[in-house]
Amino acid sequence: MTTETIFDKIIRNEIPADIVYEDDISLAFKDVNPQAPVHLLIIPKKRIATVNDIQEDERELVGHLFVVARKIAVQHGFAKDGYRLVMNCNDDGGQSVYHIHLHLLAGQTLGWPPF
Ligand code: IMP
Repeated sequence: MTTETIFDKIIRNEIPADIVYEDDISLAFKDVNPQAPVHLLIIPKKRIATVNDIQEDERELVGHLFVVARKIAVQHGFAKDGYRLVMNCNDDGGQSVYHIHLHLLAGQTLGWPPF
C-alpha cells in the first residue's frame, strides 16, 4: 500500500479544490501553482503512486484520464488551439505528489523542450 497524499484529501473533500470534472473513477481540478493560463490535474480516485506502479489491469483507468482530458478540452474550448498533457515520474521527472496525475496545460503557446 502506498502512502496517502494531499490528493486523497481532495478526493474525500477534506480540503478544498477547484474541481472542474468528476466521475466515479476520476477527478480533475485546478493546480494551485499554475504554470500556464489553464493548468489542471486529472487524477484517478484510486491511488497509484507513479507511472512505474501502473498495473496491466489499470490500463483502462489510465486511458480514462486521457478521455477526461479530451472532454475538458472540448468543453472549455481549447481543443482546437491545442494543449499539453504531461505525467511526471519520480525525481528526475519532476514528480512531487506521489499519486499519478495528468497535467493539462493550455491557454498559450507552450515552450519545448521543458528544460
Ligand atoms: P508533480 O510535480 O508532477 O508531482 O505535480 C504536482 C502538482 O500538484 C504541482 O503542479 C502542484 O502545484 C500541485 N498541487 C500540490 N498540491 C496541490 C493542491 O492541494 N491542490 C492543487 N494542486 C496541488
